[in-house]
Amino acid sequence: MSSSSLASLVSSNRFGTYFGVSQELFDTVWSNLANPEINSIAYISMEIGADPDVFHPIKDFLETENILQDPNPQLNAYVQKYRFNERKIPNYSGGLGVLAGDTLKSFADLHLPVLAISLLYREGYFSQIVDSKVGQIDHATYWKPGATPTLFPLHTPGAPGKPLTIDIPFYNGLQHPIVVQAQVWMKIELSDARDYFVPEFLLDYSLPEAPNWVKESAQQLYNAKSTIIKANQRRMLGSAILPLVDALGLTPHTLHLNEQHGVTVTLHMIVRELQKQYGENFGELMTDADILAAAQKVAQQIVYTIHTPVKAGHDRFSRDLYSSISHKAFERILNLVAHDDDIAHEYNFTAMAMRLNRAINSVSRLHRDVTRKQFPAFAPKIKAITNGVHHLTWISAQRKACFDRSPSLTNWRQDPSCFTSLIPAQEQKLSQELHQAWQADNQALVDYINIMLRRHREQMVETWIDPPNFLSSLPEQQWLEPGVFTLGFARRFSTYKRADLIFDDMGRLADILLKNNWPVNFVFAGKAHPADEPGKSVLKLILDNQEELYRRSQGLGKLIFIPGYDMHIAKLMVAGVHAWLNSPKRPLEASGTSGMKAAMNGVPNISIMDGWWVEGYHNGLTGWKFGYEGPVDEADLSEDPESLLYAEDSSAFYELLPQILDIFYNKQQDFMTRALENLRLNIPIFNTHRMAAEYVNQYAVSLSPELQSSIERFRKLYQSEESRL
Ligand SMILES: *Cc1c(COP(=O)(O)O)cnc(C)c1O
Repeated sequence: MSSSSLASLVSSNRFGTYFGVSQELFDTVWSNLANPEINSIAYISMEIGADPDVFHPIKDFLETENILQDPNPQLNAYVQKYRFNERKIPNYSGGLGVLAGDTLKSFADLHLPVLAISLLYREGYFSQIVDSKVGQIDHATYWKPGATPTLFPLHTPGAPGKPLTIDIPFYNGLQHPIVVQAQVWMKIELSDARDYFVPEFLLDYSLPEAPNWVKESAQQLYNAKSTIIKANQRRMLGSAILPLVDALGLTPHTLHLNEQHGVTVTLHMIVRELQKQYGENFGELMTDADILAAAQKVAQQIVYTIHTPVKAGHDRFSRDLYSSISHKAFERILNLVAHDDDIAHEYNFTAMAMRLNRAINSVSRLHRDVTRKQFPAFAPKIKAITNGVHHLTWISAQRKACFDRSPSLTNWRQDPSCFTSLIPAQEQKLSQELHQAWQADNQALVDYINIMLRRHREQMVETWIDPPNFLSSLPEQQWLEPGVFTLGFARRFSTYKRADLIFDDMGRLADILLKNNWPVNFVFAGKAHPADEPGKSVLKLILDNQEELYRRSQGLGKLIFIPGYDMHIAKLMVAGVHAWLNSPKRPLEASGTSGMKAAMNGVPNISIMDGWWVEGYHNGLTGWKFGYEGPVDEADLSEDPESLLYAEDSSAFYELLPQILDIFYNKQQDFMTRALENLRLNIPIFNTHRMAAEYVNQYAVSLSPELQSSIERFRKLYQSEESRL
């Protein structure tokens, strides 16, 4: 590869110079987004999880071409940065952010005119240390946006050294704005084929000159130290959207709100409508009818996806608090659009998002039914678009290589629907290769864990941290071995996810292993929000169970906790385990996506009938179900410890587990059939290409006929809304 062709990957515009896309491609994408006729889309999310260490087409390209350096200093700097620098962008807390990232990657693969807007958190979400005596210890994540590949600081036009900042008005109870600045970063979300991209604009409010209240709210995602910080974070997103697209000259038509966090953008849009009508004196002249008419107009531009039936995920603020930070005109608007039907002194931003949109989506069929019960006034509008995952991100390199070699799967990267044509009984070769890939991925996970145990043991000597794994206190011969049935569980530690469910009756669990001499590894990971004390207790309980399980099962049961759950660990786990456990209280897991990542790799799920699994279970062809699956109602949404159904659901798990272990240890063929059924039945449905195609239906975007027909193909695969439960 010559320097000149590497140079073709450099592009620029008046805001900066970028690596990874040609000038021609850059211009195409940007002009689509700046063309009002196209009705492009702005995807708004509080968090975006798209770590380049799990999906990075440019690095893959440099590796394939074996490019290690370049004589041209500028190009060489890019090569070094892309091949060797830290590749994490810790701007996510969990499923919501990872879904956003996966969605944007599929938008790029499908060549859709989309831009995304989120915030940049200098201290990330948080980094997790785990100590066996203390449990989770959280601390800020320091990272270097400037050194991170795929992320670019934009520059002020005409002043290449000067970062681009935009002015954002905040009112704080005043009638005239306090102008706050945010620096703009752009992440290039490149398609797998490197032929399109989605720009993500991240607003960094942590500037040296920023007032303290801004800094305090800007540094960490979901900082929950106070309600005012929470409200400020929402405002920082919502208030920046119009100034940002104006400054860049981009003209999105539809705003897609990924959760309600950015919904205050609608206030600014309503004000713009009223200003058109009345000019600067709109505040005095507008009537309630004017406000409602403007709100209706704005609603036509909003698509809203709600992600959880859990009340803590819905945004409510006391009216007093909000009045202290808001403009008088906003207050009048909020009184009309954000009122809470039950609590008169609160604004309900989830209800506001429910009111102001042209489409409401839930994230699975069951979640749709629950959301309709929760918000009966909007029931007819609430549709299901079941979540997916970006198959090219989550299928392991080993599995990818075996799909590449399979004659039945040509084109699987572009078209995940091709898996529907697999006939498992006739796929001996694929089955064999998949089995080998699985072994290799299991070995990789086991190696990772054993190296971690060694590091923890060293840490114990060097620091005050007590290692979070009982196994590190045992001789290395007792650590993990490949080929042992390994069950994976990793997600945020919220109490409703019941990480500890299967340890409810330790005696019964240990007996299952002892009776048949079945060794089992239980590999757990996940973070609890720093303010979520009950969530942290569940995490601590997992640690406390390690020694008891080991002793009671005479060393057959090994329970591991991997600290610092992130996308990299998720990818290792979903490919390296033999089954993926999901044990929430139904119906609180609106969708869940980690189980889909496992399914993409052929790994069967063992799950409560909740979220996506109601659609992915296929009468047992793809895995196992357990626990309560009766009708659900609003009353079932409680997270009260008494209502979490531990005894019933864990008992159902203990009844099921021996059957699964028997299949794994004695009927390998049956186990592999389930793996192939996951490829055939679940990859075509639970991928974000299909999901994106369903969303496109709601966007009113103008696409070329070719694009329209390629998207049609994905939509034909599955329609989330179609069949009733
Ligand atoms: C996929 C993923 C999640 C979401 O998993 P759920 O099953 O939806 O809870 C959270 N965190 C990380 C790092 C992930 O990769």
